[in-house]
Amino acid sequence: MYSDSLINEVRSSASIVEIIGGYVNLRKRGRSHVGLCPFHTEKTPSFHVSDERQWYHCFGCGASGTSSGSS
Ligand SMILES: [Zn+2]
Repeated sequence: MYSDSLINEVRSSASIVEIIGGYVNLRKRGRSHVGLCPFHTEKTPSFHVSDERQWYHCFGCGASGTSSGSS
């Protein structure tokens, strides 16, 4: 798993979509991006990333976080 390094990169980056896009194939959907979750195995994308909010959330496994790093 690359979860820890992914989270660390997200927290130190200006663009959450750019970093997560390096791990996951993200597609733009409305104001956010959607792709296959890197934290669990899935066949339909339920992993949402928002550059606007610097935030990610998986509706499949509940993984979420922001790039602010404080919480
Ligand atoms: Zn997930």
